[in-house]
Amino acid sequence: MVARNHIVNNLVAAYLRLHPEKQRDPEDLRNLEISNQYMSDQPVRPRRRPREWSPDDESDDDGEVVWDDDDVDEELDPSRCSQCPPGRASDGYQCAEQNPVHVFCMACMSRMPDRTDRQRTLQHCSFCQQTYCDLYFNATRGFGCSTPGGRRALKSLQEYEFHAVPPTAFHDNVHEQQILREYVGELLPSLNAVWLTGLDRIRAGLYMLQCSPHGVDARRGNVASEVDRGPSEQASGSAVSPRSSAESTPQPAANPVTLFGFTPVAADTIACTTCATRLFCEICYLYREDIDPEALPTAVRSRPDCWYGRECRTQSHNVMHAQRLNHVCPRTRF
Ligand SMILES: [Zn+2]
Ligand SMILES: [Zn+2]
Ligand SMILES: [Zn+2]
Ligand SMILES: [Zn+2]
Repeated sequence: MVARNHIVNNLVAAYLRLHPEKQRDPEDLRNLEISNQYMSDQPVRPRRRPREWSPDDESDDDGEVVWDDDDVDEELDPSRCSQCPPGRASDGYQCAEQNPVHVFCMACMSRMPDRTDRQRTLQHCSFCQQTYCDLYFNATRGFGCSTPGGRRALKSLQEYEFHAVPPTAFHDNVHEQQILREYVGELLPSLNAVWLTGLDRIRAGLYMLQCSPHGVDARRGNVASEVDRGPSEQASGSAVSPRSSAESTPQPAANPVTLFGFTPVAADTIACTTCATRLFCEICYLYREDIDPEALPTAVRSRPDCWYGRECRTQSHNVMHAQRLNHVCPRTRF
C-alpha cells in the first residue's frame, strides 16, 4: 500500500471543507482504497499507449504516457525471469514455480536464476561476487547481456589484455609507473607481455595470488624450481613483500592456505574488469620486482629504499619523494 502523504492529505481536507460539492462519492472512495494495494515489489512502470494517427492532428506529442499496474500482457511478469516456468535454460534448468530466487545483472538489471551449481561461476566475478548476465545467458539462452556495458563484463583472466599501466599501479606512484613503461618500451613487444608473463608465472606456481573484494595477497612459489627465469633475474633476489611470509616455507613450497574471504587466482578464473585490473597492478609490481637491477637505468637502481616500501602513502602524492626513493621493496619500518 502506498503511504499517505500528510501534507497533501491536509491540503485536500481543507479544500474539501471549502468545496464540499467536490467530494467523491463513498462508492468511488472504497474502490480507490482497494486499488491502492500493491501485491508486488516492482515499481509500476509507465507505458506508452500507441497513438492513432489522424491526418489533421498537428500535435507533436508522440504518445500518451499511461500508468499501468496490471501489465500482464507484457512479455514477462517482472518478478520472473526468462528461465522461470514455462521458460527453461538450454541446459534444462528451470526456476522454482513458487518463490523463485534470482540475482540481477549489474549492467542491464535483468533477472537470472540464482544458480548454485557449476553455472554459478558464469554469473559472478570470482573475487568480488558482482553479478553479470552476459556469460551466463550466452551459455544458457544463446544471447548475452542487452546493454553494451554488460557485454564481456565477465571473462577469464587469460582473455583480458592490458595496454596501459593502470593509474592505481604501484600505489598510485606515477614515477614507478613510468619506470616500468620505459623498461617495457625498450625491451618488450608491449605492456601486455607483462600480463602474459604474470599469467605464465601463476600457471607455473611462481606467483601465488589470492584476491578478495578489498585486496590482493601475493606470495611466491618455489623459487628454487624456477626454470623460466634467467640467471640474472634469479640473482636479483626475490625481494618479497612482508605479507609474503610463506616464502620461507620449507621446500617444496605448498600452495598457501586460502585466506578467509579470498579466492585463489588461476589464469582461467572468471573475473570482472575491476578485479582483473587489480590483479594486473599486482603483477606489474611483482614483474618489476623481478627485473634484474642491471637492466634498469643507474638513476633508478641507485636510489635508497623507502622505509615504508610499497606501502608508503607519500609516494602517491609527493613526486619528489617518489623519484628520490625506491618503493619497489617491502616495508621495513612499522
Ligand atoms: Zn527465474
Ligand atoms: Zn570483480
Ligand atoms: Zn545484463
Ligand atoms: Zn616512501
